[in-house]
Amino acid sequence: MTLTEKDSQYLWHPYTQHKTSQTPIAISRGEGALLWDENNKEYIDAIASWWVNPFGHSNKFIADAIYKQLTTLEHVLFGGFTHEPAIKVAEKLIEILPKNQQKIFFSDNGSTAVEVAIKVALQYFFNKNEKRTTIIAFENAFHGDTFAAMAASGISFYTQAFQGMFIDVVRIPVPVKGQEEASFQALKNVIKTHNCAGFIFEPLVQGAAGMVMYEPEALAKLIQICKENKVLTIADEVMTGFGKTGKTFAMDYVSEDPDMICLSKALTGGTIPMAITTFTQDVFDAFYDDDINKALFHGHTFTANPTGCAAALASIDLLQTDEMQANIERINKSHLAFQQKIENHAKVITARTLGVIFAVEIKSDAEERYYGSMRTKLYNFFIDKGVILRPVGNIVYILPPYIMTDEQLQKVYKTIEEAIEMV
Ligand SMILES: *Cc1c(COP(=O)(O)O)cnc(C)c1O
Repeated sequence: MTLTEKDSQYLWHPYTQHKTSQTPIAISRGEGALLWDENNKEYIDAIASWWVNPFGHSNKFIADAIYKQLTTLEHVLFGGFTHEPAIKVAEKLIEILPKNQQKIFFSDNGSTAVEVAIKVALQYFFNKNEKRTTIIAFENAFHGDTFAAMAASGISFYTQAFQGMFIDVVRIPVPVKGQEEASFQALKNVIKTHNCAGFIFEPLVQGAAGMVMYEPEALAKLIQICKENKVLTIADEVMTGFGKTGKTFAMDYVSEDPDMICLSKALTGGTIPMAITTFTQDVFDAFYDDDINKALFHGHTFTANPTGCAAALASIDLLQTDEMQANIERINKSHLAFQQKIENHAKVITARTLGVIFAVEIKSDAEERYYGSMRTKLYNFFIDKGVILRPVGNIVYILPPYIMTDEQLQKVYKTIEEAIEMV
């Protein structure tokens, strides 16, 4: 049997209707921005494998750090014990995160980073004997697939089977250009009519919604409104973190700091699953008490896994090199030039860029659905050409590894231009 045949026999893939979808492509190795399948066909990974891999595949620097840690201390429980890699990650993050972030909590993936933040927001008020149980989130948000994260997410087919089983979430419009005032008003209104504990948002870019972008000033205003009303703010930087927006964190563009930040995806450079939720001292203090019931009774077996921590440290080191910062700038400039070139194309609705993130919306006759027919046609076209891009409906986005060469980037652009002509 081929790998693909064996896969069909044994495996269940994420976000996949196995009856109607094509069989998956078996990838056997990767290097830099490239991947090769079992037949040695080459692919450019133009979405950094679901946004996790900024430094390229099989990165030697991170691999060495992991090997060294694996042969020193691969894992130790984090209840009652600690270790240097976790402490170093915490020190490093506190140095580079918005200044008000003071405490680091480890988990395993983006959804659990969000789950922890939402539970902390709810328990914060429980511990203070205040009845606040509503969470505010944006329309079309994506915060993950565990239950509280799903409740906060607004993309229907991820959550439709579970409606009626969620914590209380009220949605407000995203403050995209022209909608800012509506968004502010909606937030004020929710706060007036509900007992709100927290507001969770993807700062500046909503990834899974199709790289929907809005301005830092609008987000600052929303956070201000929350602060005036003592609603905790949660910046979900799982996608935007570690350089993707052109700054280390999207919140670096925003004049107001959030109470909590969720990190994962690029945290370990695409090597080991790990996530972190960070907090202000004020949030931590609401749990700091002689009463054990006020503690945060949440944890995961692999919490602060030393090998994951070593990978995170090596990744942050790489991110901070002049070379990597120059790469981010280079890709941003390149995206802006491509945007200028195609935004007036007859078949293009809009194009947008922030940092290394680029998105183009293609005109279509039908109302385009998330996994609709245009999406399938585009996806297959890209795969055929050896470029990995996963359109969201009629939106094609690029989120390349920062080490992608100019030549590879030009090939990605050219393939997108051909796709626009083709549909
Ligand atoms: C991917 C993502 C998540 C969920 O992360 P997982 O690791 O897939 O659980 C949460 N929030 C945002 C903004 C994401 O992009």
